[in-house]
Amino acid sequence: MESKIWLSSPHMSGREQSYINNAFETNWIAPLGPHVNGFENDIQSYLQTDSQVAVLSSGTAAIHLALILLDVKQGDEIICQSKTFSASANPIVYLGATPIFVDSEEDTWNISPEQLEIAIQDRIKKGKKPKAIIAVHLYGMPYKVDEINTIANAYNIPVIEDSAEALGSLYNSKKCGTFGELSILSFNGNKIITTSGGGALITKNVTLKEKAVNLATQSRDKAVEYLHSNIGYNYRMSNVLAGIGRGQMEVLDDRVLSRRNNYEHYLDSFKNISEISFLKEPEGCFSNRWLSCILTESETMREGLRLALDTQNIESRPLWKPMHQQPIFKDCPNYLNGVSDRLFERGLCLPSGSNLTDNELNRVTSAIKTYFRA
Ligand SMILES: *Cc1c(COP(=O)(O)O)cnc(C)c1O
Repeated sequence: MESKIWLSSPHMSGREQSYINNAFETNWIAPLGPHVNGFENDIQSYLQTDSQVAVLSSGTAAIHLALILLDVKQGDEIICQSKTFSASANPIVYLGATPIFVDSEEDTWNISPEQLEIAIQDRIKKGKKPKAIIAVHLYGMPYKVDEINTIANAYNIPVIEDSAEALGSLYNSKKCGTFGELSILSFNGNKIITTSGGGALITKNVTLKEKAVNLATQSRDKAVEYLHSNIGYNYRMSNVLAGIGRGQMEVLDDRVLSRRNNYEHYLDSFKNISEISFLKEPEGCFSNRWLSCILTESETMREGLRLALDTQNIESRPLWKPMHQQPIFKDCPNYLNGVSDRLFERGLCLPSGSNLTDNELNRVTSAIKTYFRA
């Protein structure tokens, strides 16, 4: 059996080790320290923004804190893109609020502006204005930021920008992660850069950043004794892991380039296979191509291809199963147009790591060409 080809595996540069050694030498083995602040500054300058960055234990924690900072409470309704990973929606339920799932549009596979407006109007008619909108740049492709923000502003509903998969992507030449009232990043092991596990909350509002850090460090009041006026969380990032993050930031642009090259390789290799299509970048969108995805013509074809790759020890995955199809969320209200269901049936994510060798990429493309007898 040939060696396993993973969908998206961690890719260290070697630079991380010197930051980790520094953390050990200085004994900053704690959820605070110079790398924590340094990593926040690195992200801020990368994003070319005056936004404030708080690094946390995960992207999920960042979404949880974002909702708390927007004062989301039991019984509130939160609109969430249905086509996403469950971590976008779970924190809504942590707070006793209800997710309202909204379908995707064809151009970016992300939240549909039309369905969003229909959903907002219908929820208001039913008696509750949604408290926030969670929009996701899926697989690194930016959602329709201008359209979504225009609608959000018209109804005065804040947007939480889930940029977990889109560090390094651009919308109208501006970095993803800077478009929400609050934005989040993830540094989980499968993301474009990783700290093994970690995340960040980003906001233009300095007070919100201070509140986020306070909530993430057990909500201690300013006092000598341990004094608490709020429920706190243990969500701050460790200084050791922030060191890994600093090393990874040095190679982020290379990682984007490699992932985009994977996509180009697949695009070129399958140009004569009529059963396969790709999501192109709409005008103004630059995707980090975190995962290279293809669409086949049917669920049977997608599953046949997945199994064919599996027998060659090549990992591939169907596109995210929409949240409205998940057993745990089946009773949540939803606003659907069929797009995310169809993408789920037909779509497959191919190996996309920045550390794939030419030989590995060729193994994937030959297996797919063989399947389609191309
Ligand atoms: C990975 C991911 C998250 C969660 O991030 P973690 O750091 O794993 O908690 C949230 N949303 C999306 C879209 C993701 O892909």
